[in-house]
Amino acid sequence: TSIPPSITLAISAKVKEIKANGENVYAFGAGEPDFATPEVISNAAIQSLNDGVTHYMPSKGTLEAREAIAKKLRGENHIDCTEAHISINAGAKMSINLALMAIINPNKGEEVIVPTPAWVSYKPMIELAGGVMVDVPSTVESDFKCTPVELERAITKNTKAILINSPSNPCGTMYSPEETRAIAEMLEKYPDVYIISDEIYERLIYTDVEHLSFGSIPEIANRVITINGLSKAFAMTGWRIGYACAPGNDGMVAKAMNTLQSQINTSITSFIFAAIPVALGLTKEVQSMRQIFAKRATLMHELISKWPNVECPKPTGAFYAFPKVSHYYGKTSPGGTPIIDAISFATALLDEACVAVVPGTDFGGCGNEHVRLSFACNEDNITEGVNAVGEWLSKFK
Ligand code: PMP
Ligand code: GLU
Repeated sequence: TSIPPSITLAISAKVKEIKANGENVYAFGAGEPDFATPEVISNAAIQSLNDGVTHYMPSKGTLEAREAIAKKLRGENHIDCTEAHISINAGAKMSINLALMAIINPNKGEEVIVPTPAWVSYKPMIELAGGVMVDVPSTVESDFKCTPVELERAITKNTKAILINSPSNPCGTMYSPEETRAIAEMLEKYPDVYIISDEIYERLIYTDVEHLSFGSIPEIANRVITINGLSKAFAMTGWRIGYACAPGNDGMVAKAMNTLQSQINTSITSFIFAAIPVALGLTKEVQSMRQIFAKRATLMHELISKWPNVECPKPTGAFYAFPKVSHYYGKTSPGGTPIIDAISFATALLDEACVAVVPGTDFGGCGNEHVRLSFACNEDNITEGVNAVGEWLSKFK
């Protein structure tokens, strides 16, 4: 009863309900690509289904899928790993859950450090695994990034792991290779601390800044658990395919995750394993979706920049803008609602201007001063919806 429902999923469900009733809504809630899954990927799963791959599978998945993932991580992320270090799970969400369950001794006060604002599910996941989340707040002024000094201050004898998500949901910003190396250098001093690196938005970057995987930094690599999945870059959110790579101690954590999975849900669905190597082999489709997201990032940022009294860093990765709207707290909305926080702001915005955004409150840190807009939607929705917010804001009393 102490675990809240996921606000991101709740907003998505609400938008679907409004649309099903035939009403108009500008939807910026869901963090999911609006593209169809590339056909070759779907065909691989259909073929596998038709071939009769419809029975229980090994919990660690097929060798072919694990090898394809290890090859991708070696080639693209420079992580020294083999198929023995991989766990394949029902979405990156499950990968993170299993990783936390594998490393945390429950209810012993073990801490996981998370720079905030951070994705809404991290805190419940840490708590479900019996750990304690320690947040290190960042601000809009630093592009929502924490320095090694700020992170180091949070380390105690109870620290089990640090969980970093770059590019970030909900902030839409990312650590540069230099910033990543500086954090890794600080972590060298703490050999008992795991680094959980959630890289699910790694391919969705809109500047020349490269993504550097913590797992590629040799000094800390044996403690890094890299999390990724196919949901975002391949438009496969409903397939539920995520994975973790943990090469330290010959894959000890990955093996523990597979053991846990064998007791919890056996494996991912049998006939979708065949789609994994096919998806990971695609470049053209992923690149063209990325280019479209890049255009949308620019468009959304330009339009948000016209909102009066709002600050918003330009999204450089993932598909989120995270404007600071707290100027309007303590004021009255055009429809007469007193606005006191991100939740009342987002609720009034939906009721009065038919625009769905995610209130930043559950992202922690300064999140309550912000709302999140996903630009995983078409350009007309962005132009009309973002302008509608601007108009609504201009009528505040
Ligand atoms: N990490 C982050 C930061 C996310 O935003 C999401 C959202 N879906 C996930 C992990 C999990 O993705 P999935 O379970 O769809 O693979
Ligand atoms: N991660 C996406 C989001 O933040 C999808 C929903 C979820 O799993 O939280 O919108």
